[in-house]
Order: sequence, then C-alpha cells, then structure tokens
Amino acid sequence: MTATLIDGKAIAQQVRTELRAEIEAWVAGGGRRPGLATVLVGDDPASAVYVNGKQKACAEVGIEGFNHPLAADTSEAEVTELLTQLNADDRVSGILLQLPTPDHIDGSHLTTLIDAGKDVDGLTPVSAGLLAKGLPGLRPCTPAGVIELLRRHDVAMEGAEAVVVGRSDLVGKPVAALLLAENATVTMCHSRTRDLGEVCRRADVLVAAVGRPKMIAGDWIKPGATVIDVGINRTDDGLVGDVDFDAVKEVAGLITPVPGGVGPMTIAMLLRNTLQAAQAADAASASLA
Ligand code: NAP
Repeated sequence: MTATLIDGKAIAQQVRTELRAEIEAWVAGGGRRPGLATVLVGDDPASAVYVNGKQKACAEVGIEGFNHPLAADTSEAEVTELLTQLNADDRVSGILLQLPTPDHIDGSHLTTLIDAGKDVDGLTPVSAGLLAKGLPGLRPCTPAGVIELLRRHDVAMEGAEAVVVGRSDLVGKPVAALLLAENATVTMCHSRTRDLGEVCRRADVLVAAVGRPKMIAGDWIKPGATVIDVGINRTDDGLVGDVDFDAVKEVAGLITPVPGGVGPMTIAMLLRNTLQAAQAADAASASLA
C-alpha cells in the first residue's frame, strides 16, 4: 500500500482563502475588524522570521496587524505594561507573545497575563482549562491544525483508536484533548511508555509529536492507519519528521509529509483564532450594551 498524502500546504491555503471571505463578510456586517498584536522581545532572527510571517499572513486575510518589536534589554515590567495595554485595547482581538523570550524575562509567566479572550495561541492556563473541561475557548494552533487536517480528509475520529506520542503542553496534551472531544478513544504515550511500537500498532489515528527524527517505524503502523507527523527535526539530510516517512507510507492509508504537512496549518489556525476572538469580543460587548 502507498498512503495518500495529506497536503497541509494546500489545506492551509484553502483555510486562509475561506477566512479572508469570512472576515470581509464579518466586517461588512458591522463587525469590528479583527486585529492581532505580536510582541517580540530581542533580535533572535528565527523569531523575527516567524513574527513577520504571522503579520504578513494577517494582512493577506484582512486582519489588522499591530507589531511590537522590543529591544533585547526590555524589562519584564515593561513587557507586562505593554500586555496590560493590549489586553485593554479594543482594536486588538488577539495577542501573541513570541517565545522564547530572552533569559532575563519569564516568557511562560508573561503568557499567563494575556487575557484568555485574546489568547490566540491558546496556551494560557485558562485556555488549557477550558479545553480540558470541554468548554468553548481558543485552542492551541498546531493541535487545532492536526484536527483540521483530519476533518478535511473525513477521517473517522468517533470511536477510533487514537494514539498520541508526546505529552507536551504545546502539542501532545491538547491534541489528545481535542481527539477526545471528537469521541476518539485516546492513548497518550511518552518517554516512559513500555513497548511503544505495540501501542502505536493499535492506532487508527497516530499523531507523533516527539522531536526525534524518524522514530516511528514502518512496522509500528496498523495497515491503513492515518499518520500525522508534527515533528520538525533539522538533520544533515534536511528537515525530517518524527515518522520514518518512506517506510510508514507503505503501510499507512493517509500520511502528512514533513515539511508541508502540519507545519503550514499553525498560522492558518492562528488567523482563525483571531477571527473567533474578535467575534466573541463583539458578542460579549453586545450582551453588555
Ligand atoms: P517536547 O516539549 O520536547 O515534548 C516531547 C514529548 O515527546 C515529551 O512528552 C516526551 O516525553 C516525548 N518523548 C521523548 N522521547 C520519547 C521517546 N523515546 N518515546 C516516546 N516519547 C518520547 O516537544 P513538543 O514541543 O511537543 O514538540 C514535538 C515536536 O513537534 C518537535 O519536533 C517540534 O519541533 C514539533 N512542533 C511542530 C510544530 C508545527 O508544526 N508548527 C509546532 C510545535 C512543535 P516525556 O514527557 O516523558 O519527556
């Protein structure tokens, strides 16, 4: 068997095209134009590329961008002050603090200061709690992108055996919670899991978010399974995922490539979260009026 490729680049573009139309319809109907504030402390070139990419993507779909590049020696108190202002600014529907921050700043603490209604990264403890309780809220972007890829390929999640390898707050835990919300039977694996290959072989849907090049082997895959590779590993052979793609594609039914699978979905979901945040903010102010 040779698996069908899940083309994340094409699906992300499709989501962005749909969002552009949705945003214009929302604004034409009297809604406030969504706005995304990005905060980047320091001059890490990779972070600057990420932030610029997010701002460019915003402009393309009609989201107003507010970029706040801050000098590397900005104090934690100054960043706190900026986040407080952005929380209060009605033009800003979403706030994104680019991580990692310089060593003298506690980035994970600062993230907790972002208003949950503007937490378009979906990473604050409040957003994580809403997800864990199955309540409406903003979901983390990469995990939401994984679910979107599955939906757009009509992968049956209800009742499916889903195995998630990795339990980080950023990817593994939220992916597992989202699959559970889709009524999958979810198993979470991590570095202490015994006989990982045996557990993976149970999976109708296998999600790898580990950070170990080509760790998921071909003989760990149930024939016809859907395999989603979140891993991004820089090796001498270039970018590779956590899945041994060449071996696994011979057994799986559907598979994401790296690059061009999950990666492009992250920004698309960030844009969607920003629209969702703007709509929720307008609904909240209308209910107060
Ligand atoms: P992380 O925080 O380092 O977590 C890795 C997880 O993998 C941990 O839960 C760890 O288990 C588990 N693990 C490590 N070695 C293992 C082993 N031998 N067997 C089973 N589990 C093992 O990484 P992350 O932030 O979740 O990211 C995972 C990967 O996704 C990375 O390659 C990252 O670059 C990529 N990523 C991609 C995107 C994107 O596409 N946009 C976004 C985010 C991350 P323990 O908890 O027991 O240590």
